[in-house]
Amino acid sequence: MEKIKCLIIGSGPAGYTAAVYAARAGLNPVMITGLKMGGQLMDTTEVENYPGYPDGIMGPEMMEDFRKQAERFGTDIRFGMVTKVDLKEGEHKIFVDHAEEASIEAETVIICTGASAKWLGLESEIRLRDAGGGVSACAVCDGFFYKGQDVAVVGAGDTAAEEALYLSKLCSKVHMLVRRDEMRASKIMQERVHKAENIIVHWNTETQEVLGDDGVTGARIINNKTQEVSEIPLTGFFVAIGHKPNTDLFKGMLDMDNNGYLITKPDTTSTNIAGVYAGGDVQDHVYRQAVTAAGTGCMAALEAERYLAAREFELENA
Ligand code: NDP
Repeated sequence: MEKIKCLIIGSGPAGYTAAVYAARAGLNPVMITGLKMGGQLMDTTEVENYPGYPDGIMGPEMMEDFRKQAERFGTDIRFGMVTKVDLKEGEHKIFVDHAEEASIEAETVIICTGASAKWLGLESEIRLRDAGGGVSACAVCDGFFYKGQDVAVVGAGDTAAEEALYLSKLCSKVHMLVRRDEMRASKIMQERVHKAENIIVHWNTETQEVLGDDGVTGARIINNKTQEVSEIPLTGFFVAIGHKPNTDLFKGMLDMDNNGYLITKPDTTSTNIAGVYAGGDVQDHVYRQAVTAAGTGCMAALEAERYLAAREFELENA
């Protein structure tokens, strides 16, 4: 079986940053990319808030730069899916693409499998999202493009409230589409939403269709109590109905919170198993930015390097 020092799972900003640091530290990291090489940024159009790109950059192009930088220092990048893991201190076994035998045994594992935004599943929503036509799951990333315009936010949790409040400072009007007659968001967030003069809450409201051919022009909505159908003009449609962290592989092994996010020890990326680290959105439901993901990817690699150095010292002096 192949034995390595450091395995990185996932190829978003956290994974690639971990790879740059681990490779430069001589850990000869192997990265298993996952099916969507590049992660969530592959679904993004222009990124304007990643430092170092003064003119902005397209999400996929930025991830290509990340990949090249990780490869430059010798990261062994392999396209594939980790399908099973057996994590035990000192001998973490990783199964790739349903291999029956463990494909790799790694002394350290850095988990950067990310989270996936949930979508409504409407044909029009997915089509306009994929075309970069005004459907987004991140107000901080894309809100700026809708300055002075009318937008909608779907959802009624803390994320939706936060996104609506963020957008209310940039946009003329923010329509909040809430499917029940109450919000799930914390009381304080609800109060802030109600105080914002340009947020209009539509209760008992579901989206039937996002309107527009190449770009969003509006939404057809239905009141699920009265069955009344109406159309609102919009240029941006933000979906904030939650994220799903990609952690199914680690259930029963790694500590997770109620929403499935990996729990790391305060101020570190260490999980409950020695030698296993988590960086990026898989352990962060609060910030969820490329730059914060890259930051925690860096932390994970530095922690892995220090762990390996301490282990080597112990073995040599045993
Ligand atoms: P939540 O699961 O809390 O909320 C999802 C919201 O989306 C709910 O209001 C839900 O409606 C709605 N929704 C789900 N599916 C649909 C659909 N198909 N159509 C319309 N609406 C839909 O997710 P969040 O991302 O808001 O929050 C996740 C966790 O992160 C929570 O624990 C939250 O408190 C936390 N968080 C904390 C923050 C902070 O502390 N600053 C910031 C952001 C999140 P319904 O209520 O009817 O089910």
